[in-house]
Amino acid sequence: MQNITVIGSGTMGNGIAHTFAQFGFKVNLVDINETALQKAIATITKNLDRQVQKGSITEDIKNATLANITNHTDLAKGAAKADLVVEAASENVDIKLKIFKQLDEICPPHTILASNTSSISITQIAAVTKRPEKVIGMHFMNPVPVMKLIEVIRGYKTSNEVCDLVMATSKKLNKIPVEVNDYPGFVANKILMPMINEAIITLYEGVAGVEEIDTVMKLGMAHPMGPLQLADFIGLDVCLSILRVLQDGFGNPKYAPCPLLVNMVTSGDLGAKSGRGFYEYTAGSKDLVLAPRFKK
Ligand code: NAD
Repeated sequence: MQNITVIGSGTMGNGIAHTFAQFGFKVNLVDINETALQKAIATITKNLDRQVQKGSITEDIKNATLANITNHTDLAKGAAKADLVVEAASENVDIKLKIFKQLDEICPPHTILASNTSSISITQIAAVTKRPEKVIGMHFMNPVPVMKLIEVIRGYKTSNEVCDLVMATSKKLNKIPVEVNDYPGFVANKILMPMINEAIITLYEGVAGVEEIDTVMKLGMAHPMGPLQLADFIGLDVCLSILRVLQDGFGNPKYAPCPLLVNMVTSGDLGAKSGRGFYEYTAGSKDLVLAPRFKK
């Protein structure tokens, strides 16, 4: 396992490319958008500089990491020699199914095809390929270079050999992989999203305000961030779409998204990325300021 192709160079793709390259793998980073690729290399360079400043890596490792990454806008060129592909393109089922169909034709027979999806079924993705035993989920956490966990998701037909190889490769990245089965939300989001939804319902019902809910969960449960701030960080649209996957997948009304969450997403308040969610975000400021609607 030496050649890794990462597809999608956004928030997750640049972190995944950074991590593989830092641990000596050759990485081909593919995106349909040339500007996104340039932005990804700038972000990786900035994050490596921060690691050098902190003393966690040397200048030589930084340079070797950057030298291990090659950019492509052409999937066929970027994936032709891959031993492992990690797809981290936008969370859209049609985009992912199209990419996996193409990969199945482009990649050599031994190539393992992994997806970093947060919520789309690995079994469904595997079913569009002729190698479902070699399709698997590698769910990295954000920010990838920092977070230790990789949720390794076994599709219905993923083989033991492929699962073992992906677990072993994850450990070479100094990560802790955890094996789970392919059901809606896997483990991380099946537990996290109902908690976030319950925090929003608690606000909607008037039990407490935004800061009070986040403070109870931070101080009471030793969470580094309250659930409403975390929802803003993940993206409220992403939270809503994962809750709908859980609701549809299990057919259980307990996953029904809170109407307040639906209204916020419909109005374009998507959290940190849109500048406003439960809190307001100003570029360059780290202060946590309540969104006007939630001020008392
Ligand atoms: P993003 O929007 O930041 O980046 C997606 C990138 O994919 C963009 O640069 C886009 O140009 C590119 N892309 C779209 N279609 C493509 C194609 N056909 N070929 C190549 N590139 C293509 O998204 P993200 O937040 O990095 O999420 C990527 C994946 O990771 C999603 O499946 C998401 O669910 C998952 N994920 C995200 C997080 C998170 O916190 N953001 C955490 C875990 C998993």
